[in-house]
Amino acid sequence: MNYKLSKYLVFSEPIINSNYRLVYSTISTTLTLLKVNIYDKLINKDFFSLKNDSIFDRLISSKIIIDKTRNELEQIIKYNKKAIANENVLYQIISPSANCQLGCNYCGQVHTKKSLDDNLNKKITARIAVNITLKKYKHLHIGWFGAEPLMGLKNIKKLTLGFMNLANKNNCSYSANMITNGLSLKKDIFFDLVEKYKITKFEITLDGTQKHHDLRRHTKLKEKTFSLIFKNLKNIVNDNRFEKSKHKIIIRCNVDSSNYKSTYDLINLLEVEKILDKISFYTAPIHSWGNDAHLKSLTHEEYSEFQIETFIELIDKKHKVVLLPGIKTPIVCTSLYEHAEVFDTDGNVFNCTEISQVPIYENDDSFKVKKLYDETYTNNNRPYSSWNDDILNGEVPCTNCVILPICGGACPKLWKENISPCPPIKYNIKDRLLLHFSQNNRKILSKKNV
Ligand code: SF4
Ligand code: SF4
Repeated sequence: MNYKLSKYLVFSEPIINSNYRLVYSTISTTLTLLKVNIYDKLINKDFFSLKNDSIFDRLISSKIIIDKTRNELEQIIKYNKKAIANENVLYQIISPSANCQLGCNYCGQVHTKKSLDDNLNKKITARIAVNITLKKYKHLHIGWFGAEPLMGLKNIKKLTLGFMNLANKNNCSYSANMITNGLSLKKDIFFDLVEKYKITKFEITLDGTQKHHDLRRHTKLKEKTFSLIFKNLKNIVNDNRFEKSKHKIIIRCNVDSSNYKSTYDLINLLEVEKILDKISFYTAPIHSWGNDAHLKSLTHEEYSEFQIETFIELIDKKHKVVLLPGIKTPIVCTSLYEHAEVFDTDGNVFNCTEISQVPIYENDDSFKVKKLYDETYTNNNRPYSSWNDDILNGEVPCTNCVILPICGGACPKLWKENISPCPPIKYNIKDRLLLHFSQNNRKILSKKNV
C-alpha cells in the first residue's frame, strides 16, 4: 500500500474505558477520536485493512495517513516560506520612548530619558513609507512597544496621524496594538487611543496579586505599582464604552519559581472584581532577555504542569482557553516577516524585538538592519532570515519535532543563544488533548469520527 503514518501526530493515552484514543495532527490541526482497534492498525501500519474501514477517508483528510512518497518536513518548510511571501500585513514596531517608570527585577533593558524627536519621527515615517511599497501590502499594523510606550504618548499621537495617511495613500487599512505596564493607562487615555489612534489591542502585565507583583514590578525607586494599574484596569473595563467596542485587553502574568503560585489568587481577584470575563488572560515563563532572568524560571516540565492547572482554573471560571491551536504557525515572529522592523529612540532599526536597549547587544551591529542616523550603514544579512532552511537542514531540534507545524520554532534568537525556547505545549500537549476532549466530547462524538 502506498501509504505511511504521518510523523506529526500526538496520541493520547487510552480513554473511555480504554476503548478509544485521541489523535491530534499538528499538520491538519484536527483532533480525531479513534477506536483502539483502529489505533492498533495505524500503529502496525496495517493500511490494507484500514482501507476498507469507513474511517479511512477521514484518516486521509486529517493527514493522519499520508502518501508514502510525501516528505512532510519539506512540505512544512515550503508552506512556511509561502506564508512569508504571501503575507500582506506590514508589521512595524516602534519604541516612542526609551524610558520606563518601572524597574522590574527581570528586565534586560537599560532605560534612559530619551524619546523620539521630530527629526527621528520623520525618518521613521519615511522608512515605513518605503517599506509599505516593497510588496503589495493591504494592511499596516504598528506595535507600540518599549521601554514603556506611554512615556512617549505625544510621539504616538503625532506618528499615528502620519501612518494613517500613509496607509490610506497606499490603499491599506490601519491598526495598532500596545504592550504597556498599564501604570499611565488612565481611562481617558485608553479611550482616546482606541477611538482616535486605532489601537485595538493592549497587553498589560500583572505578575500575580499585589504582594507578589509589587515585589517584582515596582518603580525604579521601589514604589508599589499594583493598585494603580489595577485601578486603571477596573475603570476601563467598567466603562460602558468598553463593552461596546471590540477592543481587547490581554493580561499577561509573567511567572518564575518565586511568584507562580500567586497566579491562582490573581485569577480569583479578576473574577471577584468582574474583570476576568471582559479580558483575555495568559501566563508566560520568564525568559532570558540578554540576562540571567531565566535562571529563576520553572523548568519546562514544571511550567507545563502549572499551565495545565491554570487552564483548569480558568475553565472552571468559564474563561475561554485555547487548548489546541486551530491553525498552524508558519511565521513564528517579527524577525521572519520580510519587511517587519523595530525602531528605537537611537535611530537603530532591528528585526527582533529583544535587542534594543539591552547592553550586551549595544555594540553588536549584526542585529541592526539599518541605522537611521547613518546613511552609509548597510546590513544585507537580516538576522534569522535563514530560519526555515536552518530547520530543513537539521540545525535545530525543531527539525525532528512533532509539533513543528503549530510551533514554528518559538524563537530563533534563543536557539542561536543555546537556550531552548520550546513552549509548554510541547510538554503538556497530551494533557491538552484530554482537557479539550472533556470540554468538547459531545461535539466530537456526534460527528461520528469513530
Ligand atoms: S521550539 Fe521546541 S517545541 Fe517548537 S518546534 Fe522547536 S523543538 Fe519543537
Ligand atoms: S527572534 Fe525571538 S526574541 Fe526576536 S522577535 Fe523573534 S521571538 Fe522575539
